[in-house]
Amino acid sequence: MLARARREQTFPSSLLFHGARGVGKQRLALWTAQLLLCEAPAEDPCGKCHSCRLVLGLQHPDLHWHFPMVRPKGATGDRLGPALEEARAERLEADRAKPIRFINLVEPNGIYLAAMQGLRRRAQTRPSMGENQIFVVGDAEAMVSQEASPEAANALLKLLEEPPPGTRMILTSSEPGRLLPTIRSRTVPIHVSRLPREMVKRFLVEQAGFDAAAAGRVSAMADGSIGRALGFLPDEEGDTPLETLRIKALDLVRAALSRKQSEAFRVALSFSPTGGRSLVELLDFLDQAIRDVAAVAAGAPERAVNPEIASALERGRGEALPHPTDAARCLAVIERCRELARGNVNPQLLVAGLIAEMRRCLAGQSTAAVGIIP
Ligand SMILES: [Zn+2]
Repeated sequence: MLARARREQTFPSSLLFHGARGVGKQRLALWTAQLLLCEAPAEDPCGKCHSCRLVLGLQHPDLHWHFPMVRPKGATGDRLGPALEEARAERLEADRAKPIRFINLVEPNGIYLAAMQGLRRRAQTRPSMGENQIFVVGDAEAMVSQEASPEAANALLKLLEEPPPGTRMILTSSEPGRLLPTIRSRTVPIHVSRLPREMVKRFLVEQAGFDAAAAGRVSAMADGSIGRALGFLPDEEGDTPLETLRIKALDLVRAALSRKQSEAFRVALSFSPTGGRSLVELLDFLDQAIRDVAAVAAGAPERAVNPEIASALERGRGEALPHPTDAARCLAVIERCRELARGNVNPQLLVAGLIAEMRRCLAGQSTAAVGIIP
């Protein structure tokens, strides 16, 4: 579709790639940049010309890739812009050296006004090599997730409204609902789907050095996201950050199924009392675990992604399985918690409340309507 739009010269000036985290939205944005900058494009970018090689090496002077960053220490006022540029260059350098990495876990970072002002200034200048200048803004919802950021979104908005000739903007977001409506309405949305399990598996074996058995296990848990799958691979310190979260999510489910109410508090106290945002990722795993509960409860255990769920249910509930609808009610509770987590509530309180509410749901005692956040 993108290649055809380029050929027919109907390529939109602003795109929004949206879809789940880690499915390759920013990778597709870079491919699109390559397509638009290629010296001899056909259906695909040629991959061989000078431009293509520069894009693939993240060194093309007309490709500008922005993403959320941690605020550089001590950089305020006029020094913030240059400090962010420096940090961005460092990150691009690191990506060049190690292009395959898992999705960043949620950390307090953002896309700052200074960065978007720099982007706008750059867009007013002529491209260095050809006719086009491509700006990629990854995880664009980070513009509105922290203070001063509505201004960053507004700075971008002006550019989306009147893009200078040859300027192409590509935004990506896994949470497009958090973008300003005015930004959404000025971009052409393209949904980037989750990948089939087989494709994730093949990627892990061919590109990321997994052995076939590990790739099979991990691709089942990755929910169609290569970025997520990579988080199950040990990092430099030997940690497997996403596997740790998955286990933690199972702990929450076990506590909600336990006959002992005190389990909720034991699990809640294992969390830090600060840093609510770090829970957002955990809640994704909890979502999956609860969908597994529903699968087992509905008599389809082979659909469960977490192999431990069946035994957790048996230990917690014996023969008395929850009704699948009760599991579905849990999903609404989790969704509400996700909103609270973004507001940085105390994780211990949130988890204790969440488990208590899930307990009620799984015991058929909740009256919350399915799919509606009360
Ligand atoms: Zn090319």
